[in-house]
Amino acid sequence: MDEKEKLNVMLFPFLGQGHLIPMGDMARALSVRGVRTTIVTTPLNVPTIRGTIGKNSEIEILSMKFPYVEAGIPEGCENTESVPSPDFIPIFLKATAMLQPQLEHLLLQHPTHCLIASAFYPWASHSAAKFNIPRLVFYGIGVFAMCASECLRLYQPHKDLSSDSDTFVIPHLPGNIQMTRMMLPDYAKTDKYTEMLQAIRESEAASLGVIVNSFYELEQVYADYYEKLQGRRAWYIGPLSLCNQLQEKGKRGKEASVDEGEILKWLDSKKGNTVVYVCFGSIANFSEGQLREIARGLEDWGQEFIWVVRRSHKEWLPEGFERRTEGRGVIIWGWAPQVLILEHQAVGAFVTHCGWNSTLEAVSAGVPMVTWPVSAEQFYNEKLVTELLGIGVPVGVKKWARIVGDSVGSEKLEKALNRIMAGEEAEAIRNRAHKLSQTARTAVECNGSSSSYLTDLIQQLHSIAGLQNSPKSC
Ligand code: UDP
Repeated sequence: MDEKEKLNVMLFPFLGQGHLIPMGDMARALSVRGVRTTIVTTPLNVPTIRGTIGKNSEIEILSMKFPYVEAGIPEGCENTESVPSPDFIPIFLKATAMLQPQLEHLLLQHPTHCLIASAFYPWASHSAAKFNIPRLVFYGIGVFAMCASECLRLYQPHKDLSSDSDTFVIPHLPGNIQMTRMMLPDYAKTDKYTEMLQAIRESEAASLGVIVNSFYELEQVYADYYEKLQGRRAWYIGPLSLCNQLQEKGKRGKEASVDEGEILKWLDSKKGNTVVYVCFGSIANFSEGQLREIARGLEDWGQEFIWVVRRSHKEWLPEGFERRTEGRGVIIWGWAPQVLILEHQAVGAFVTHCGWNSTLEAVSAGVPMVTWPVSAEQFYNEKLVTELLGIGVPVGVKKWARIVGDSVGSEKLEKALNRIMAGEEAEAIRNRAHKLSQTARTAVECNGSSSSYLTDLIQQLHSIAGLQNSPKSC
């Protein structure tokens, strides 16, 4: 294809692993279809993007400076993972808004037909308008959670309750979803984020539509409802991790803290569906007391596990834990090759914080979940997994928190592990998870729903850009 006739798309992910990774995957999916793709990020986040796009040399990465000094942010805090405390997030969000002039400078230097930017950059719609190009929004969450948030905002069912633990049904949301105020994200309960949320809504209204990392069959009712609710187009092109796997098995995100070959060898030595994988994403913060309870739960449960711990020191580990669990348990200190692990047939369940990427990766791999939501929209995702899809059991967390105190005792974890791993209920859950995984795989294959959405999106962008040739099909 003549280079001049190629569609050029610029991707601008939010600075957090849970956004950088799926957008890296998205770049791959677009690039395979002959779209010239550029990803813009800041220097510290380049390795995550590189780790995700792998050997694909057609994707260009452009780097911009992070405004440490202007924003009053300590050097080195360039993503949600590295901020000194969760209270820092509002300041961090303000700092990212200072990236606008640099983004526009890059748009000037690199003629682009479309800007795909995170919802956390509401100002990106103005930037795109300046260059007379369409902007697409990426929230990085599923459409069920998007609908739940919107229904809460519109109907405010949580405002007049007498107690935080009173149950209410989310009005107008299909599925009779019951929540308590304790489970709601702070952006839904306080006024602190009203301005930002309003800017995001306006920016979405000014955009061409929304790209969702999900597949239509997974959240069909809510995909239909979203279009009715918002009157906007959405393209369901996920699971993006699967689009990625079709190319280079499991290579995503940062460099793993363990030898991938070693961990696969360890898993190869285990029987099918016997190992539990425990990981709470890139941001969730657990107290040492809570980590000790997890250790006790895993030890008392007595079976095989891989546990990912984002700590550099081990003083909190119960005395002798590693010796007593040797051979049946592995702790990964730092970053795990998550998709490689989840896709292994020895893995029988995933204890997860219900981050959207982790949830979708488990769905893709057909792995049942023990849900342990922490913050963000994770309590909505728990509802989807346990009540609507029936592919997980809750560990029993009741309260949204930026820092997890000692809320789940070891016995609760042990109980949930027994429930998800053995017995009739576990078998039914495993069967449903397995079926969904097959549907997910079909969705990303040629002419599957996600693949067709991608074709439609690229065709529309071609036509808006006035390109004459037809885009490459799947
Ligand atoms: N991840 C990983 N190794 C880790 C922790 C996380 O590869 O040790 C990846 C995981 O596969 C997912 C992303 O990081 O793609 C985390 O995103 P998610 O939405 O699940 O959670 P967040 O980190 O945003 O809370």
